[in-house]
Amino acid sequence: QVVTRFAPSPTGFLHIGGARTALFNWLYARHHGGKVLLRIEDTDRKRSTQEAIDKILEGLDWLGLDFDEPPLFQSDRATRHAEVAMQLLEAGHAYKCYATPEELEEMRAQQRANKQPMRYDRRWRDRDASEAPAGAPFVIRLKVPTEGETTIHDAVQGKVTVQNAEIDDYILLRADGTPTYMLAVVVDDHDMGVTHIIRGDDHLNNAFRQLPIIRAMNAIEGGWPDPVYAHVPLIHGSDGAKMSKRHGAIGVEAYRDEEGVLPEALFNYLLRLGWGHGDREEITRDEAVELFDLDGVGKSASRFDIKKLLNLNAHYIREADDARLAALVAEAIGNKADVALLTQAMPVLKPRAKTTHELAEGAAFLFAKRPLEMTEKAAALLDDESRERLGGLTERLKAENNWTIEALEATTKSYAEELELGLGKLAQPMRAALTGTTTSPGIFDVLVLLGKEESLARIDAQAS
Ligand code: GLU
Repeated sequence: QVVTRFAPSPTGFLHIGGARTALFNWLYARHHGGKVLLRIEDTDRKRSTQEAIDKILEGLDWLGLDFDEPPLFQSDRATRHAEVAMQLLEAGHAYKCYATPEELEEMRAQQRANKQPMRYDRRWRDRDASEAPAGAPFVIRLKVPTEGETTIHDAVQGKVTVQNAEIDDYILLRADGTPTYMLAVVVDDHDMGVTHIIRGDDHLNNAFRQLPIIRAMNAIEGGWPDPVYAHVPLIHGSDGAKMSKRHGAIGVEAYRDEEGVLPEALFNYLLRLGWGHGDREEITRDEAVELFDLDGVGKSASRFDIKKLLNLNAHYIREADDARLAALVAEAIGNKADVALLTQAMPVLKPRAKTTHELAEGAAFLFAKRPLEMTEKAAALLDDESRERLGGLTERLKAENNWTIEALEATTKSYAEELELGLGKLAQPMRAALTGTTTSPGIFDVLVLLGKEESLARIDAQAS
């Protein structure tokens, strides 16, 4: 059975790159009928916060990414991590290193001076612990093979090989007995039964350091198979540089709150960012589960393009249920909003909006209080001539008993003909009077949505 995992470090919000990693893990598991798990990598106690954990969980939930088991907290598992370090030590795959901080500093200074790579020189690898002063503090280091090479057949990057001599004998357990991140990741992945590790390609180097633990444990007790790795290229900003705060919103909730994006649009966009199925842009959640596989993941970094995201968002706004959008917009507008009226208006508001903010802006006229605030352009349309025409229109609309689009259109048209005016010449001042702006849904839709009484009151207020 396929088991994937998303393993965020809770030091900030759920950023776009993390969300995409979570999405790919989720899709891979769902596509293969496997499980997807969540692990909170909170071992850096100083930088991990409850607020960040909550934000990450909220972001995942908003995107509709659910997990098959409650989250596992890495910090709860230090005892188990230490246990594995001890097994490695006893079996001779790890050793105690008594080098003092001063000694290591001196070693690094020399390497720097000789322009050598800065790497622990394995000075305690072949020494006996009895050579150390009694009771001296020690760390446990992994005994990485020094000869040969390690090859990973990465599902995205292809075949990648590293000389074992390049991999250092890094620390598994610190002098205070706490595990390092590298050890914790490997032990947790094993204990969670993870079969496929899908993550950013900034972790590719780590894979070469993590594999020796896996292989050593497999030699010791069996049941530690190599996982399948898939290192996904990072997301870059529109300028080609690695995505960072400087590129604007990078937290998932900022796309919701600041950009007015729907979760299904971000879901679709993140999917397309690094994965493709022919040239299809619009792919629903169900289709994604059906189609997703690692062979569709590209090898080169993808560029974040807010325009593409907003185009998808416009598409999903048109597709979305009216009542759902009305509820979202009502929340943005506040207590003067009327959800039933918004729902009724949605079919004419939706085609005009790329974001939920634009939906709210487009709906504002419905709840405007008289006298309406006018934009400059709207005010300019209401000259003496127009006001007089609006006066005549008021008379005709007052007599209109059938307040429907068809009837209102017929009445307005015949009045325009009487005035020997194009409909637009009449509709523009009407729009200004009814909405206070020069852009709105079709003018007859506006009349119907506002209703007879309110429409007449607004037109009358501008008529002479
Ligand atoms: N916690 C790591 C991160 O947030 C991910 C580790 C992993 O996927 O192996 O970058």
